[in-house]
Amino acid sequence: MNIQENLKHIKSTLPEHVTLVAVSKTKPVSDLMEAYNAGQRIFGENKIQEMAEKYETMPKDIEWHMIGHVQRNKVKYMSAFVSLIHGVDNFKLLKEIDKQAKKHDRIINCLLQIKIASEDSKFGMSQNEVAEIMESHDFSELKNICITGVMGMATFTEDNAVVKKEFNNLKSIFNHLKSIQHKNCNLKTISMGMSGDYQLAIACGSTMVRVGSSIFGSRQQ
Ligand SMILES: *Cc1c(COP(=O)(O)O)cnc(C)c1O
Repeated sequence: MNIQENLKHIKSTLPEHVTLVAVSKTKPVSDLMEAYNAGQRIFGENKIQEMAEKYETMPKDIEWHMIGHVQRNKVKYMSAFVSLIHGVDNFKLLKEIDKQAKKHDRIINCLLQIKIASEDSKFGMSQNEVAEIMESHDFSELKNICITGVMGMATFTEDNAVVKKEFNNLKSIFNHLKSIQHKNCNLKTISMGMSGDYQLAIACGSTMVRVGSSIFGSRQQ
């Protein structure tokens, strides 16, 4: 497994408008540094503690993305440095992110996670829940967050038709949300696609792919 070569290969297949998040969860800093030395600057982690530890030891020009499920009481451990939170799936969490961002006098970019898969295990909101949040007065008052797009995870299946339908659905929800943007929104990102399905995701309109095992190799656990 050669991280630099994997990275180079994947990048060569991505259109220019698609951002690559290198998903480095569970991997040692030495692996991340290999990717860093090959030019990668955006890393995705799914545990706040692990991300904070890597942030401490690694170069400061890295953009750290939280791609996992976020517990409200842990937002404070990443609010000083996180550059994008992908998994915002409820309003209380968004309000907590706003509150913690304010303490650091910064604006934290967030993606709203939409449940597009039929599996119960995937987190996320429905289109109606998201629209309700974005149309509320309380939402318009939040000044230290910026909603920059949506994130979704497709069903884990070999059936490409199912995955394609779910990706198309996320794209259409994104288009709908564009019509109800507030000042604290700048909808431009559709985060969808992982190692197994990122090419299909891009064909369906993804602008940000989260790729882990195809870069760093498979994970234990
Ligand atoms: C782990 C993870 C990924 C990357 O998965 P791979 O299949 O290893 O590319 C992408 N998105 C989320 C939310 C993840 O938790």
